[in-house]
Amino acid sequence: MNRDVVIVGAGVVGAAIARELTRYELDVTLLEAGPDVGAGTSKANTALLHTGFDAKPGTLEARLVARGYELLSEYAPSVGIPVERTGALLVAWDERQRGEFDGIVERSLANGYSAIRELDAGEVYRREPNLGPGALGALEVPDEGLICPFTTPLAFATEAVLAGCDLRRGAPVTGVERLASGGFRVDAGRGSITARRLVNAAGLRSDEVDRMLGGENFTVTPRRGELIVFDKLSRPFVRHIVLAVPTQVSKGVLVAPTVFGNVMVGPTAEDVERKDDTSSTAAGLEYLRTEGGRIVPALLGFEVTAVYVGLRAATEHADFQIRFEEGYACVGGIRSTGLSASMAIAEHVRDGLELELRPRAERPRLSMPNLGEAFPRPYQQADLIASDSEYGRIVCFCERVTRGEIRDAFASPVPPVDLDGLRRRTRAHMGRCQGFFCGAQLAELLAGPGTADRA
Ligand SMILES: Cc1cc2nc3c(=O)[nH]c(=O)nc-3n(C[C@H](O)[C@H](O)[C@H](O)COP(=O)(O)OP(=O)(O)OC[C@H]3O[C@@H](n4cnc5c(N)ncnc54)[C@H](O)[C@@H]3O)c2cc1C
Repeated sequence: MNRDVVIVGAGVVGAAIARELTRYELDVTLLEAGPDVGAGTSKANTALLHTGFDAKPGTLEARLVARGYELLSEYAPSVGIPVERTGALLVAWDERQRGEFDGIVERSLANGYSAIRELDAGEVYRREPNLGPGALGALEVPDEGLICPFTTPLAFATEAVLAGCDLRRGAPVTGVERLASGGFRVDAGRGSITARRLVNAAGLRSDEVDRMLGGENFTVTPRRGELIVFDKLSRPFVRHIVLAVPTQVSKGVLVAPTVFGNVMVGPTAEDVERKDDTSSTAAGLEYLRTEGGRIVPALLGFEVTAVYVGLRAATEHADFQIRFEEGYACVGGIRSTGLSASMAIAEHVRDGLELELRPRAERPRLSMPNLGEAFPRPYQQADLIASDSEYGRIVCFCERVTRGEIRDAFASPVPPVDLDGLRRRTRAHMGRCQGFFCGAQLAELLAGPGTADRA
């Protein structure tokens, strides 16, 4: 099969590239080793929509995060990806940290972000009354926001599939060869595919795919980030994203609401050896509890709903590892800001591939199910329930997920294949009880028609 483009990896970056390329008359295949779209690092991050105010000026990352922010801020509401513009407060807890403010403001201005401003301690506590004692002041970054990490890659992939993208899940790429006649041969899952262009968006394994073509420019060292999610009752105690003043080695621990109505604390930053080491550690969680309790002491009085771990694709370089070589695009080392930058990375890759671009006459109209707590969910909509009673039948009581939403997820263009996929499409199984109540019923629904009363 001869394709115009094959993309390796369906994280938020690969899915964004697939969406961008299928806006044109191109045959695109998206290959994902795992069972689902967005199930790698893209599902386990802090899910902030960054403005890029604190990026290193002059880097490709700085440019693409700023542009990505613009693109995603416009795209998200148009397709139903929940975004909340809470703004961020970068708080100084000692004089040394306050001394860093001028440099951070300078950096922000160099990155083209000028809405940043300093607040005194009185104003900080007025804005964020539950902060622990000792805040000396803060930098306010009013445009930082929260976004749904699950819906974003799924929206990109769904739009791509509706526009004709050949999405193959469970298709690990095991070999890649540049053909003498031009183009590439890609060995994956059910056989090999030839393509005129090849995009490597393999996240933590982008260095390994790059080496298949002789690349030696970078090595990915996974950097583990552990996070704690607190119960929804804690949500009124945190209004903004509360950022730390970064150090040489890390951005520090933040406290932030989530679009699902929880509060999270994290992430840690620790280099690990294995690319699948998503285990949490007693030391990491203890550190986060201490930091969380210092920043917003009331948090420690709430139950922990979940703990999760994401691995950043860190490399020996300070910037994204994106390069173009005769029809090949390496899109590696997308460490800490890839969700925010995803649409801009896609635009950049589209241009770098030097394809003839003829826009498709028809674009799919996309409407993703809303997972955001700040927007109406089906169980709250009397009209919807009156027209379809399945939206009134709750399966997951912690997250108020209805049978109608689960039915819709199974009928969607990129349906879930496991419980984790169903969770990321509906919120089922991610609440207080972590599936204790609904787990058995969800498992039956997943097992297929006939095993449960699947509507
Ligand atoms: C703790 C933490 C916090 C973060 N916070 C934020 C944040 O607040 N805001 C933000 O913008 N970004 C944040 N990020 C960064 C963001 O999550 C990443 O930059 C982004 O998810 C990277 O996406 P990706 O598509 O490159 O990688 P991935 O999501 O890892 O996707 C790569 C995919 O490639 C597949 N793959 C690998 N090898 C092969 C192969 N041989 N064949 C086929 N498929 C293959 C994998 O299975 C995977 O699905 C954070 C990251 C972490 C870890």
